[in-house]
Formats: sequence, C-alpha cells, structure tokens
Amino acid sequence: MLLSSNTSEVTVATTQVSEKQSRAVGEAARETEWRKPSFGKELFLGRFQLDLINPLPEQDPEQVAKGEAFLDKLDAYVRSDVDSELIEREGRLPDEVFHRLAELGAFGMKIDEKYGGLGLSNLYYCKALTLAGSANSSIGVLLSAHQSIGVPQPLKLFGTEEQKQAFLPRLAAGEVSAFLLTEPDVGSDPARLKTTATPVEGGYRLNGVKLWATNGTVATLLVVMAHVPKSEGHRGGITAFVVEGDAEGVTIERRNEFMGLRGLENSVTRFHDVFVPAENLIGKEGQGLKIALTTLNTGRLSLPASCVAAGKWCLTVAREWAAERVQWGRPVGEHEAVSKKIAFIAASTYGLEAMLQLCCLLADDDRNDIRIEAALVKLYASELTWLVADELIQIRGGRGYETAASLAARGERPIAAEQVLRDLRINRIFEGSTEIMHLLIAREAVDAHLSVAGDIIDPEADIKRKARAGAKAGAFYARWLPTLVAGRGQLPAGYGDFGPLAKHLRYVERASRKLARSTFYAMSRWQGKMERKQAFLGRIVDIGAELFAMSAACVRARAERDTCPEGAELADLFCRQARLRAEALFEGLWSNTDAIDSAAARRVAKGRYAFLEQGIVPPPSEGDWVEQWEPGPSKRPDVRRRVR
Ligand SMILES: Cc1cc2nc3c(=O)[nH]c(=O)nc-3n(C[C@H](O)[C@H](O)[C@H](O)COP(=O)(O)OP(=O)(O)OC[C@H]3O[C@@H](n4cnc5c(N)ncnc54)[C@H](O)[C@@H]3O)c2cc1C
Repeated sequence: MLLSSNTSEVTVATTQVSEKQSRAVGEAARETEWRKPSFGKELFLGRFQLDLINPLPEQDPEQVAKGEAFLDKLDAYVRSDVDSELIEREGRLPDEVFHRLAELGAFGMKIDEKYGGLGLSNLYYCKALTLAGSANSSIGVLLSAHQSIGVPQPLKLFGTEEQKQAFLPRLAAGEVSAFLLTEPDVGSDPARLKTTATPVEGGYRLNGVKLWATNGTVATLLVVMAHVPKSEGHRGGITAFVVEGDAEGVTIERRNEFMGLRGLENSVTRFHDVFVPAENLIGKEGQGLKIALTTLNTGRLSLPASCVAAGKWCLTVAREWAAERVQWGRPVGEHEAVSKKIAFIAASTYGLEAMLQLCCLLADDDRNDIRIEAALVKLYASELTWLVADELIQIRGGRGYETAASLAARGERPIAAEQVLRDLRINRIFEGSTEIMHLLIAREAVDAHLSVAGDIIDPEADIKRKARAGAKAGAFYARWLPTLVAGRGQLPAGYGDFGPLAKHLRYVERASRKLARSTFYAMSRWQGKMERKQAFLGRIVDIGAELFAMSAACVRARAERDTCPEGAELADLFCRQARLRAEALFEGLWSNTDAIDSAAARRVAKGRYAFLEQGIVPPPSEGDWVEQWEPGPSKRPDVRRRVR
C-alpha cells in the first residue's frame, strides 16, 4: 500500500498473502493520475495554494433552493417523529422510519433526478446527513452507507446506462443497498479476499462470506467485492458486482451487535453459488478496489457529516449544562478547567464544519481533485470528534456516564452523551481506520517524490533504472528545493485581506514548507525504509490535516464575514488551538519514543512482561480469534429483515 510504486504483483485468492502482495494490491487500487489541481497535494509539497480553495466556490441557486426545501421537510420529520430512545431501547429502526425516509426521497438524495432521485449537491447531501444523524446516528449511517458506498455512488461513477436505469430508480424509491468488502480474514488488507466470482455461462457464480455489512440485513441490492480467477478471456482480480439481495443462495446468517449504533442493520452474509448476470459487473474485472477507492473520494464526506452533527449536539449540551450546573459557588462552565473544554468543543465544531463545507463545495464545483482533502477530513473529524464527545462526558460529570433512559427515570433531562461517544467510536475504524488513512494519505503526500525518485529507493530497480531516476530526481529537486526557502508567509502583510486571521494563513504557508522539508529530509535519511516509519508518517499527515483545517476555517470566516461576523472569533480560536497541535506534532517528528516503543512491543510479543498480566481473571482463551469459513450452503437460519 505504501511508498512503493510497484504494482507488478496482484492479488490471489489465498490465505498465504505476503506483505509485498498486500502492498501491491493497495498500490494497484490507487488512482495514479492527477488530472485536476489538488490543494492537499500541493500543501504537502510546501506549496500553499490558497487560490485553489479561496474564495469558496458558489452553489448553483437552483441547487440551494432544492436542497433547502428538502432540508425543511427532513427537519420537520426527524425533529418530531424520530424516537431515538425507542431505537436505542429496541436496538432497531422501526419500519416506519424506512417508510417515511423513502417518502421524503432520502434514499435518493444522491441519485440524479432522471433516475427518480433528488439529485442533491454534495453540500446538501451532507447537510441532510448531519441533520438525520443528529436525530439518531443509526439513521445517518443507514443513509450514508446506502448512498456513499452502496450501489448508487459506484454506479454513478462507473455504471453503464443500462445499470443506472435498472437499479437507481429502485434505490431512489426506498430499496436499501449495502457495500460488502470485509470478510472474517479481510479487514484493512483486501489482498486476502477469498470470496470468488467464477465465470460461467452468462455471468458469474459467487461464493463466500462477508462480514459486518452495514444495511446488510435489510438491503435488496448489494455491491459485492469478489475475486475473479484469471482464465482465458478473463483478466481476473478483485471485481465489483451488483447483486440482488434476494437472489437464490444469499443467506443473512447474522445481525451483528456493537458498542454503539444500536439501530444498525449490520450482517454476516453468505453467498453460495449465487448467479450474478454478466451485466451486473461494475466497470471491468480487476477494477473492484479502484472503484471502491474512487467511490470513497466523495463518499468519505458522509462520515464527517455525522461527526459535525455530534459536535453541534455536544456544543448545545455543554453550553446549557455548564451554565446551569453550579458547584463550588459558580456555574461549572466558569471554572477554567471546564471553560477550556467548552472552547475546545466550540472551536473544533466550527473547524470541522468549515472543512466539510469546503470539501463539499470543491466536490460540487468539480474543478479540483479532492481525494486528499476528503481523506484528511475523514481522518481528522473521526479523531477530533471523539475527543469532543469525551470532553462533553467530563463536563457532564457522573451524568455524562449515565444513560438517557436512567436520567429520565430519575426525572432528569434525557441527554444521551454516553451514546454519542459509543456511536462515534466506530468512525476511527471503518471506511479506512486511522492507521490505514495515515498510510493512504502519506502515499499521496509523497507521490511526487516517488514518481521522480521511486526507482532510486526501490531495491528491485536495476542500475539503469536507478541512473535514469537519479537524473530525473536531480532536475526535479534542483527546481523544487529552492521554493521551500521563502514564501508569502514570511511577509508581514501576507494574506492581509484576511484581517486578523492573516497571521494564521502566514503560519500555514510557513508550516507547509517546513512540512515538505521534513518529508524530504526523512526520505533522504530513511529512503526505502521510510515506509516502515508509520509513526513519523502519521505525524506528517496529521500536521497536513491541521494545516488544511486552519485554511478551511479562515476561508469560511472570510466568506461569511458579512453574514456571520462572529465566525471569525471561532476561526481564530480554532487556528490557535490547531497551531499548538501542529507544533507539538512537528516537535514529535524528531523527538519521540518510536524506536524504543517498537522494540518494547516486540518484547511484549515475546512474553517478557507476562508478569504484568497476573492478578486478574484473564480474558477468554477458548475460541478462534478469527472465524474460519468454508464455501458451501449456509447451515444457519436466514435472519434477513424485509421492511414491509
Ligand atoms: C459497525 C461496523 C460497520 C462496518 N460496515 C462495513 C460495511 O458496510 N462494509 C464493509 O465492507 N465493511 C464494513 N465494516 C468493516 C470495517 O471497514 C473494518 O472493520 C475495517 O476495515 C478494519 O478492519 P478490521 O476490523 O478487520 O481490522 P484489522 O484490519 O484486523 O486491523 C486491526 C488493527 O490493525 C491496524 N492495521 C491493520 N493493517 C495495518 C497496517 N498495514 N499498518 C498499520 N496498522 C494496521 C488497524 O488500523 C487496526 O487498528 C464495518 C465494521 C464495523 C465494526
């Protein structure tokens, strides 16, 4: 996956998958071309191109009118009729929720009007997810899994006209879709994929087991990733298919339960000799992962939308509660320790919303490549909102730890802070875990270096390739390195049209060059070993995220200076907090315990510190860590749920 441009080896459906093969599969799934400008890519190269994001692109007035009208209807429904406590208590969304969302057209928000959808812009789609997710997180996840990773988005990007006509109207009308990549042995590493699609007359036979498919128990149309074996006339590889949920041979073996998102309809799905017609193949054989990754370029924006919902909700509770609760002679919000948390929640929510809004507008405008920005906002939002919710729990004290039902039973306001924390936790794991997002973004951040100097550090490159790369790299670095020495961020009047926020943009410009210098220095120092420096790379990416977030906050404040002048105060606060985080990360680049931590982890693995585990009732030691499955018919009852 990382820091190697070698794509010569592709996946094989086997459990014996080497690290090299896993990387090759990840690399092959990358979009290698940059056809449009990318703010994020430039930022990591030390080129702060503010004009790519400022002024904010404008939405078409028709889109705004359509989006606002839909938001009004959705708001009226979720505000008055969604019973979040009932969903939490019963651990499922009532049928009624599906019906009403379908009536509103919520399952077709992202589907073009010509296929029966609403055709909302990314901005309004995300606003709607924020709104729906604030009523109950499971509703937000239902709608986003359906549209951002389920059938509509890959078809929009890669589907044929026939496929669009066949499936999109059904989905817009309320049929639910799901995306099935994960298997018991396949999480972050798709090279281990074992589900197969074997070519047969007129199509393929699908066999395999898929784990944790969100919407899987209710979905009637699935995107399934399966491995097509290479054979004559078939290039093979991981391939994406649209599969009918009610096709013969599909069994929903389980509905999974989690620490949060209690209303989630998440499945274990088995495919046994399921016939998939050839016309249901999305794109081409072997393009499955590329399709999944490209789908996520904008698909990743829906997760931050639910984070923004959580941030706004936490802010309201923090504000009201901290003013009302008096301890030690003052409202708790007036104690400095608590006031800092409130400021953090407010600033973070502003910054996150600014990042999301910017990414959506860029996606709608379609002039920029936003793959890095969307990945950054997914990573950043999932991490930051987790801290926001944790701080809210602390502000609420014991009540933060108490369930809404218990609070209500005692006669207090049913504030479900602990639920928000539980519901948010998965965001750091799914749609690319934080660790994988770090690697994925780092790969893009160093792409320019790899494309000129990759062969120099590639142990498999022969002397000729290395020599060619040496010449190419020499020319590139002779031009590029001098650009990192000075910039507009050093001019006292730089970015002056941003008023008091200009100093933050000057910092971003300077820090962007420093970031690029640090990356270059690390690459020269570690060369091919850099791909193993995950902690270093993680910090590089996190600095980039802070810088992008600061830029977004300033651009938003400027765009809204007439309509929302107080926003500039929050942008300033956010930038000050973000800058401190960025500085700590810079410091950590060269002053850290990375090497000794890795050595310690190896000693832990060897059992050297087993003494430390004594004195407790140990965790279960029976049972497989990872379920082993064999192809074949299901031996479990089908637990599918069909909404009447
Ligand atoms: C509630 C829920 C909903 C989900 N919905 C869907 C869905 O709709 N469709 C679907 O296909 N999947 C879904 N998933 C699966 C989800 O995408 C995976 O859980 C996720 O990809 C991580 O895989 P894993 O859990 O197997 O962790 P693993 O891959 O086993 O990783 C374990 C840990 O190791 C880290 N790690 C792994 N590889 C590396 C590496 N190379 N370098 C550094 N660290 C590494 C991970 O970040 C993680 O911390 C869902 C999961 C849950 C829990």
